[in-house]
Amino acid sequence: MPRLVMKFGGTSVATVERIRNVARHVKREVEAGYDVAVVVSAMAGKTNELVGWVKDASALYDSKEYDVVVASGEQVTSGLLALALQEMGLKARSWQGWQIPIMTSEAHGSARIAAIDGTGIIKGFTDAKEIAVVSGFQGMHQPTGRITTLGRGGSDTSAVALAAAIQAERCDIYTDVDGVYTTDPRIVPKARRLDKVSYEEMLEMASLGAKVLQVRSVELAMMHRVPTYVRSSFDDPADPKLGTLICDEEDIMEQQIVTGIAYSRDEAQITLRDIADKPGIAASIFVPLAEANINVDMIIQVVSDNAATTDLTFTVPTADYERACALLNEHRAEIAFKELQGATDVVKVSAIGVGMRSHAGVAARAFKALADKGINIRAITTSEIKFSVLIESAYTELAVRTLHSLYGLDQA
Ligand code: ADP
Ligand code: ASP
Ligand code: MG
Repeated sequence: MPRLVMKFGGTSVATVERIRNVARHVKREVEAGYDVAVVVSAMAGKTNELVGWVKDASALYDSKEYDVVVASGEQVTSGLLALALQEMGLKARSWQGWQIPIMTSEAHGSARIAAIDGTGIIKGFTDAKEIAVVSGFQGMHQPTGRITTLGRGGSDTSAVALAAAIQAERCDIYTDVDGVYTTDPRIVPKARRLDKVSYEEMLEMASLGAKVLQVRSVELAMMHRVPTYVRSSFDDPADPKLGTLICDEEDIMEQQIVTGIAYSRDEAQITLRDIADKPGIAASIFVPLAEANINVDMIIQVVSDNAATTDLTFTVPTADYERACALLNEHRAEIAFKELQGATDVVKVSAIGVGMRSHAGVAARAFKALADKGINIRAITTSEIKFSVLIESAYTELAVRTLHSLYGLDQA
């Protein structure tokens, strides 16, 4: 029998009634002849609530206990879906990450999947025709036997990894939109649904802020060549649409220069004024940040009028902003900056497209279009298939819409 992994996100399992609707989608695929493993997220809002409780209980919380608490949301929905399937006369059981087991690294809160033992699930298929309902987002670190979680949005990764482990024919990611769009359809109503998007572009879109898929899930889909669809759980279970296929670049006939626009509010800007313009200064700034596990993204260095000093601007994740500022102030004597200026009201807007490899001047057009709207660019980064600009967050929607129209992505 061919195997299928179906993943349902938080909005799709937000209530028992919606879980019943999910069960109808699962039933359809079982009747079509698939052995099905379903991966579920926690009910919408649940994980945020659990994270809030952890922080309330302990400001400097132990990440092992954080994982124990936040993994519980998925335990509830896996049991509820197994029950809903049983109510429909289907055989089903729930599986927690540690029961399968899904083995991960020890990085609590952002663990990586190391291996999945699919034998128990496959035995359930062959011996009992039993649907496996798997709690997403969670795994275990085997040497310590402790529960781990995969980082926010991690159920996507659970699903793709499981699909690879049990050699599923494909992995269907059901969510609250009917596919991957040229940009977030909540911000740009004129966004278009894409029938296909390449692994490379999806990887960039996800890492640049399009939260429709967790970055790691796209990496795994690409590495193991898992055909992955993004589709809607709100479609009629009797009349399903396939949504967007994430696939090889070669399988896409008509390539645009720019495929999508993404934005991320998860960036904070730090500017160091009047630092000495001499060898070793960049190292004195970025080595302590790297040692503290703070990821620096965009970097620009300005050449000042007087050659002795310069200004340096860079971005860090918003969550690390306070820590980064504190660390730089600690190292103030070595770095010898005159002033530290920071801003958290910034957003990174990016355009992604494999066509940029072969077309010049793609970014330049954006700089002009943004200038025409009076939007000031604070920092720029480019790479082979994307460019990003850092701007004031008040202009997020205007900038995303401007670039979306500029590259011909608007729906007719
Ligand atoms: P789930 O709970 O099912 O995992 P998420 O909220 O994580 O769902 O992801 C779906 C959301 O991603 C959509 O509701 C949409 O607002 C957002 N999104 C951002 N960028 C895009 C995009 N390019 N295409 C589709 N959805 C996008
Ligand atoms: N429930 C987890 C989260 O909200 C995982 C997921 O939904 O993918 O991040
Ligand atoms: Mg998600």
